[in-house]
Amino acid sequence: MKILVVNAGSSSLKYQLFDMDTGSVLAKGNCERIGIDGMITHKCPGREDFHATPAFPDHRAAIGYVLGLLTDPERGVIADVGEIAAVGHRFAHGGEKLKASTVLGEKEIAYLESIVGINPLHGPPAISGLKACREVMPDIPHVGVFDTSYYSGLEEYAYLYPIPYELYEKYRVRKYGFHGTSHRYVAGRAAELLGNPGAKIITCHLGNGSSITATVNGRAVDTSMGFTPQDGVPMGTRSGAVDPTVVTYLMKEEHLTAEETEKLLNSKSGLLGISGVSSDCRDIREAAAAGNRRAQLAMKMLVQSVKKIIGSFYAVMDGADALVFTAGIGENDRELRSEVCSGLSALGIEIDETVNATCPRGAVAELTRKGARVRTFVIPTNEEYMIALDTQSLSKSK
Ligand code: ADP
Repeated sequence: MKILVVNAGSSSLKYQLFDMDTGSVLAKGNCERIGIDGMITHKCPGREDFHATPAFPDHRAAIGYVLGLLTDPERGVIADVGEIAAVGHRFAHGGEKLKASTVLGEKEIAYLESIVGINPLHGPPAISGLKACREVMPDIPHVGVFDTSYYSGLEEYAYLYPIPYELYEKYRVRKYGFHGTSHRYVAGRAAELLGNPGAKIITCHLGNGSSITATVNGRAVDTSMGFTPQDGVPMGTRSGAVDPTVVTYLMKEEHLTAEETEKLLNSKSGLLGISGVSSDCRDIREAAAAGNRRAQLAMKMLVQSVKKIIGSFYAVMDGADALVFTAGIGENDRELRSEVCSGLSALGIEIDETVNATCPRGAVAELTRKGARVRTFVIPTNEEYMIALDTQSLSKSK
């Protein structure tokens, strides 16, 4: 069975075609500059990458071009579009109603359109991408996989904010959680490695956007992101959690509008804002190594914040069986893993520094020091494969 996974952004459309019989990726790529001019990078294992600049006036043009490439007599990997059994669509937000991956029909699309107010950045382009794919491939199931759905089982006391309850009822202001597909994937892999489906697991997805999730028995019980992906630890350009009064105070002092304030906290804060160097962890590390104090400070703040959340989730779960690092920073930045785990021996978290310093990139590794109570892993995330798996199981059961 072949499954196409699509992740549509405002001017981009990423795709991967999976052969689910072998679990392999047949082709993947990224259409960029949609609505501007158009650019595509297309990769097939064992072949040279393909680059082109076709016109992409909209998402429909981009997906049409991708299907043309996938079935191209020379470059193609399938003979006919009919070989694609289903399409899995990544959605950042499923609101309160889409609590699990779902085959998307008119009713679900109408609901997704009704919640763009709480998902203004990701919602509209993802819906455009979905509509374009349904037009071009009308006869197969289109499955939505939502980053938020992993958190649909949070207890009310874990997802509500301590503000007047009526405001939650009126605006659905609550913690939704994000990166759920990544956390679900790596927590699932960790539970397999532990041989314990009921395990208590803390997963740290540390990338350009970062979040930490507590999972018990395959279910998320808490997470660091909130109403938006702005909460939690400091990120590339996002502040993460701040005292809310800092926000209103700055608005008053700097005469900022709501939009300007959001921009400040979303695009100019976090590691970039503190270091003044870059939002990219590699650049910050380089500057820190060269003695840049603010770059060193940014990394210390990240470490402190991650440690605090690990500690709080340990408390929430009454212990932990595993700690997992994933995503760009979690998978690659050995120093950060070492700094986060240092001083956590009271919680039973201790890693073998030699293994941490030498484990191969891009592969699962166990960092646990001999005798440590909590097992620590690096598990490369694979959200696209998780989306493909959900899409496969829902289209089979259809
Ligand atoms: P996104 O959230 O956009 O998917 P990624 O998961 O790709 O982001 O993570 C991007 C982050 O990972 C960047 O801050 C980047 O610097 C960091 N990163 C990637 N490789 C390394 C590395 N070798 N060492 C340290 N940080 C790295």
